[in-house]
Amino acid sequence: SSDDEAEEYLFKIVIIGDSAVGKSNLLSRYARNEFNMHSKATIGVEFQTQSMEIDGKEVKAQIWDTAGQERFRAVTSAYYRGAVGALIVYDISRRTTFDSIGRWLDELNTHSDATVARMLVGNKCDLDDIRAVSIEEGKRLAEEHGLFFIETSAKDSTNVKTAFELIIKEIFNNV
Ligand code: GDP
Repeated sequence: SSDDEAEEYLFKIVIIGDSAVGKSNLLSRYARNEFNMHSKATIGVEFQTQSMEIDGKEVKAQIWDTAGQERFRAVTSAYYRGAVGALIVYDISRRTTFDSIGRWLDELNTHSDATVARMLVGNKCDLDDIRAVSIEEGKRLAEEHGLFFIETSAKDSTNVKTAFELIIKEIFNNV
């Protein structure tokens, strides 16, 4: 565009990870400041758009939630198409969800190229008393795969805004 002030950025970001790690709640906490104790049963694809300003530019993040597709191991290629960022989420209180990260990274690599910004997210850090994955293990896995790492709680809001803002800024810096 010849008009710099009208310049606009739209980034598609996908949230992946095992069922019930808190993907939907991370998105609803970030986009609407809402948290639900009960998982929703609806199946489909949903996204929310959030705007932020970086260096005087309007940046819109279109953040997609699998909305339960992963229960059937059927996250479609349409879900990944055009994504420039990915949050790969596990639940710090359930070891199996951490053990699945490799599989989610493989799937992400199958459907997208290496330039996609990636962040490993250990959610439910409010459940520290029943923690099954240490912070060090999270950091180590992230380093091994060249991912950013953060622990969050969609329940008490810890680091949720920070996680999304970090990945959005990283994408912006790579444009
Ligand atoms: P999804 O299947 O990955 O989208 O997971 P949901 O967002 O539906 O969350 C699954 C369950 O975990 C729900 O009962 C949520 O209330 C709960 N949950 C999500 N995030 C957190 C969190 O940060 N802390 C705690 N304690 N529970 C959470």
